[in-house]
Amino acid sequence: MYDVIIIGAGLVGLGTANALQEQHPHLRLLVLDKEKDVATHQSGHNSNVVHSGIYYTPGSLKANLAKKGNQTIYQFCQEHGLYYDHCGKVIVATQLKELSLLENIYQRGLQNGLQVSRLSQVALKEREPYVNGLEAILVPDTGIVNYPEIAAKLAEIIQTRGGDIHCQQSVQAIREHSDSIEVQTQQRTYQAKWLVNCAGLQSDRIAQLAGYDTGMKIVPFRGEYYVLNSDKNHLVNHLIYPVPNPDFPFLGVHFTRMHNGKRDVGPNAVLAFKREGYRRTDCNLRDMAEILTYKGVWKIASRYLSEGIAEMRRSFSHRLFTENARQLIPDLRPEDITPGPAGVRAQAVTPEGKLVDDFHFVTGRRSLHVCNAPSPAATASFEIGRELVRQYFELI
Ligand SMILES: Cc1cc2nc3c(=O)[nH]c(=O)nc-3n(C[C@H](O)[C@H](O)[C@H](O)COP(=O)(O)OP(=O)(O)OC[C@H]3O[C@@H](n4cnc5c(N)ncnc54)[C@H](O)[C@@H]3O)c2cc1C
Repeated sequence: MYDVIIIGAGLVGLGTANALQEQHPHLRLLVLDKEKDVATHQSGHNSNVVHSGIYYTPGSLKANLAKKGNQTIYQFCQEHGLYYDHCGKVIVATQLKELSLLENIYQRGLQNGLQVSRLSQVALKEREPYVNGLEAILVPDTGIVNYPEIAAKLAEIIQTRGGDIHCQQSVQAIREHSDSIEVQTQQRTYQAKWLVNCAGLQSDRIAQLAGYDTGMKIVPFRGEYYVLNSDKNHLVNHLIYPVPNPDFPFLGVHFTRMHNGKRDVGPNAVLAFKREGYRRTDCNLRDMAEILTYKGVWKIASRYLSEGIAEMRRSFSHRLFTENARQLIPDLRPEDITPGPAGVRAQAVTPEGKLVDDFHFVTGRRSLHVCNAPSPAATASFEIGRELVRQYFELI
């Protein structure tokens, strides 16, 4: 009998295990994951950016936990000798119509208590000589880490403190009783007093297994990256972002200096027909049927049809993808970038077609479900865990 079982050994599950152990060192704790290793899905397929929290609604969980999480991630890397580069990012307006949006982001940064500054065209050129921009914002707190390395260290610490992590245990059934909860995988049945669902792309299904309708469905959006050929690395010094579309903040190809010295270009965002499918051709019948029969998806599709089609076309055309990226760096040519890895975002969508913006948790009798933890949840992972413990586990 465990005190707490956490489903999902991504950064949110591991962050939650870490926070539980910090507050309640004597808990018997188990983290279950269906894959061979930790951080196999979103936590291991992302941009590796430590976000600052600049974009998010003041007072939201995203704004607060990203800001705290930003400091926590750097501290953790420093303490454990892990890679980090506190290099800062620029958000660049390339067209006149973007200047007012850029100003809004700047004001939001100030409201969120961040140190942000405006960069003139000349100042931007000094930092990023190849970037075409009218004006920019400098966000010094943004940086780069290696999230899989952080997840591996966190898993090691959790186990050293006595927690168990069982991989290759795919949860198939959950039974909640008045005083305990039973979690059944293909091989075993586990018992615990409490359950936390941090299953990312599968979190709505895990909640359903426990008997809860979260009122939203996870819709997968694949993000495809290109890698800049190394002889073109000089085109990108730091992190270079476009002004985001306020309706689709995760759209907008950016340039990221990576921990391995490479420069990623991307990601885009296209509807994926497999929740954990990383190739364009990946398709899962159950996932596809669920997407195509979900009202929320059709509502988004009708509202944002042109954006959706443009993203799909860029996904299939190297030339169109490059054209999009050239808005920031006009010198970029199609032959300068090579197709790279991909990730799949777990975005909760309501039946009304609303992309759930903030982190969202649903409570059951003996279970707690993290139903929406999109970006910046890697940055905020330690703090999401602490928030869950503060809100729901104070009385353990
Ligand atoms: C393309 C992309 C770029 C991103 N860039 C950034 C960024 O730069 N910075 C940032 O802060 N955030 C970024 N994010 C967001 C961030 O990666 C995620 O928000 C975060 O990793 C979510 O962590 P998680 O633990 O909730 O999910 P995951 O990492 O997906 O973990 C969920 C785990 O649950 C397990 N699981 C699922 N079902 C079961 C089951 N039935 N039984 C057992 N285990 C199960 C899975 O195997 C998985 O390991 C990005 C995301 C994507 C996709």
